[in-house]
Amino acid sequence: MKIAVLSRNPKLYSTRRLVEAGQARGHEVDVIDTLHCYMDITSNNPAVRFKGEPLPKYDAIIPRIGASVTFYGTSVVRQFEMMGSFSVNESVAISRSRDKLRSMQLLSRKGIGLPRTGFAHSPDNIKDLIKNVGGAPVVIKLLEGTQGIGVVLAETNKTAESIIEAFMGVKANILVQEFIKEADGADIRCFVVGDKVVAAMKRQGQEGEFRSNLHRGGTAQLIRLTRDERATAVAAAKAMGLNVCGVDLLRSNRGPVVMEVNSSPGLEGIEVATDKDVAGLIFEFIENKANLASTRTKGK
Ligand code: ADP
Ligand code: GLU
Repeated sequence: MKIAVLSRNPKLYSTRRLVEAGQARGHEVDVIDTLHCYMDITSNNPAVRFKGEPLPKYDAIIPRIGASVTFYGTSVVRQFEMMGSFSVNESVAISRSRDKLRSMQLLSRKGIGLPRTGFAHSPDNIKDLIKNVGGAPVVIKLLEGTQGIGVVLAETNKTAESIIEAFMGVKANILVQEFIKEADGADIRCFVVGDKVVAAMKRQGQEGEFRSNLHRGGTAQLIRLTRDERATAVAAAKAMGLNVCGVDLLRSNRGPVVMEVNSSPGLEGIEVATDKDVAGLIFEFIENKANLASTRTKGK
């Protein structure tokens, strides 16, 4: 098949591995820089242009859309969808997953385990906001944060109030969340492809750090999931409409709770920790699922 990886950087581990794995399975794989694509969106013959030429019709595309380019990136994905290319993740599902609140609302509606979470804008009900998620200790998160930046643990109600006031003072959107202490500074990344968890790793924060992000010095190791954890990860992917994603779970006393669903999960951490050919499994999924007749962005 003719497959495009939409990525800003061909040198990234994930991009390189996708090219390698696709070629090893006999596909023709191009890397296309998403931001350099342009298009006539009103033409009734949809096309994507790149460096002065129309791009060929790809059987499938693998979008690797960074959080900072979600808006333009998903428009490019949508254009490929209109051309009839199968996108591993649909543009609407990517947009949906980029909004943490919207994601949690959708997951909650499906009855998927979540940490108790509050969201607010106006500061006159801060005390109730904290009480509503069970009181301190609570985790306060900037809605737009990534890599653990803007994720703060408040040990007391007083501290929580001052942090919330500070964030609200700068007009940031925030989440206030029950602190899952028993997770013990670890989270679990489940890599979902299709309707299966194909690899999973446990990420453990440094001594004394409740955030397990690898960017914050956390370490990753292979882990065996419980049946409940597998089912939760698969249900979360399905609720978001993502075929390929990373579902981050915390092990809580009441079972797995989903923290986040990532629509462009990195391959390096998971492949190194688990020694699995995750990139190859993404192509296997495409080989089985890329059905041109069924490709149409539902746009809802
Ligand atoms: P980011 O998206 O910036 O990585 P996360 O929401 O994933 O932010 O939080 C970063 C890390 O902090 C998580 O990987 C987890 O280890 C820890 N963490 C986040 N929320 C909670 C919580 N409610 N209870 C316990 N630990 C948490
Ligand atoms: N189509 C909207 C979305 O992508 C609404 C989904 C819903 O509320 O179920 O989130």
